[in-house]
Amino acid sequence: MKNIAAKVWLSSPHMGSEEFNYVKEAFDTNWIAPLGPNVNGFEQDLQSFTGAKHAAALSSGTAALHLALIMLGVGPGDEIICQSFTFSASANPIVYLGAVPIFIDSEPDTWNMSPELLEQAIKDRIAKGKKPKAIIPVHLYGMPCQIERIIAIAAVYDIPVIEDAAEALGSTCNGKAAGTFGLMGVLSFNGNKIITTSGGGALISDSGKLIEKARFLSTQARDPAPHYQHSEIGYNYRMSNVCAGIGRGQMQVLAQRVKQRRGVYAYYVKHISHLPGITFLPEPERLFSNRWLTTITVDKTKTGGVDREAIRLSLEEENIESRPLWKPMHLQPVFEAYPSYVNGLSEKLFNDGLCLPSGSNLTEFDLERVVDHIKACF
Ligand SMILES: *Cc1c(COP(=O)(O)O)cnc(C)c1O
Repeated sequence: MKNIAAKVWLSSPHMGSEEFNYVKEAFDTNWIAPLGPNVNGFEQDLQSFTGAKHAAALSSGTAALHLALIMLGVGPGDEIICQSFTFSASANPIVYLGAVPIFIDSEPDTWNMSPELLEQAIKDRIAKGKKPKAIIPVHLYGMPCQIERIIAIAAVYDIPVIEDAAEALGSTCNGKAAGTFGLMGVLSFNGNKIITTSGGGALISDSGKLIEKARFLSTQARDPAPHYQHSEIGYNYRMSNVCAGIGRGQMQVLAQRVKQRRGVYAYYVKHISHLPGITFLPEPERLFSNRWLTTITVDKTKTGGVDREAIRLSLEEENIESRPLWKPMHLQPVFEAYPSYVNGLSEKLFNDGLCLPSGSNLTEFDLERVVDHIKACF
């Protein structure tokens, strides 16, 4: 009988030493509500870490993006430009509002939104009679997109940018935090992200007005009155004080988690980058990735016929989780009818790419196992 070693996960929660103390404090003081000292403290931690002037802690990154679009007045029939190579949560809130996602393919240096295709799409949409209402670029896998170029293009056409930095807390462009370039930025603390609150997200911005409004909308849009009074539709999207307690503890180890994830990336580069046909995504100048996930592409014309799927299945047999690179939105059954501006890159990445186990809690032994089994495929 085969002896199956412990499961190696793609990216699993990694608690520090203080999370439980903050949660315990919430219990001890009976702040078991979507407000309280941990929520305020967590928001302050996010502001000082990212440099954003304001932050609202919310129930998820998806909720943050939904509120951002609502505050921009997005409604039925509006067009929203969105990176195609992403996780579906970047695009779902567009459709919640009856708006139309316009998908943009990637560029090779960061695998994120192509500024050329973005500009082409804006011009084409305007020519067709509709100016896009917002642009959603994504810093996928923690690699910052070409955000400065995207912001410059958006400024020419006066279109607001909502940065999806759900996977990129701790990443920077030119020393400035991912998520702080656009009008608003979206963070996620889902269980698989670089830090987690077990489930949660945040909206960050330099605009106090927008963040105040996000807090208002996320707590059922209650007008100031002794009775329940509403003049707008509200949402139940605020983060609880218990979850925020986990977040405060996680913020204390975030810098260390970035270091550890980058260490995982460096380990893989050292041990498998010499294999023929295996390619990593290096950091372009001025960009700093938190290396949330280490990603490789597999060129089977150079590996001697070994493709991505062969590696993935062979790891799976050894109880090691890996995952194909995200399937682009313009190829998803639920989104394929929407307009898209493509060059084939994200489709190729999906076909040839693999995310390797990248958690900050992986041991040297775990990493050795992954590397040995990848080598064994050759
Ligand atoms: C995780 C994720 C989200 C959504 O965040 P949730 O907190 O899970 O709602 C959005 N965009 C990207 C790119 C993500 O990876």
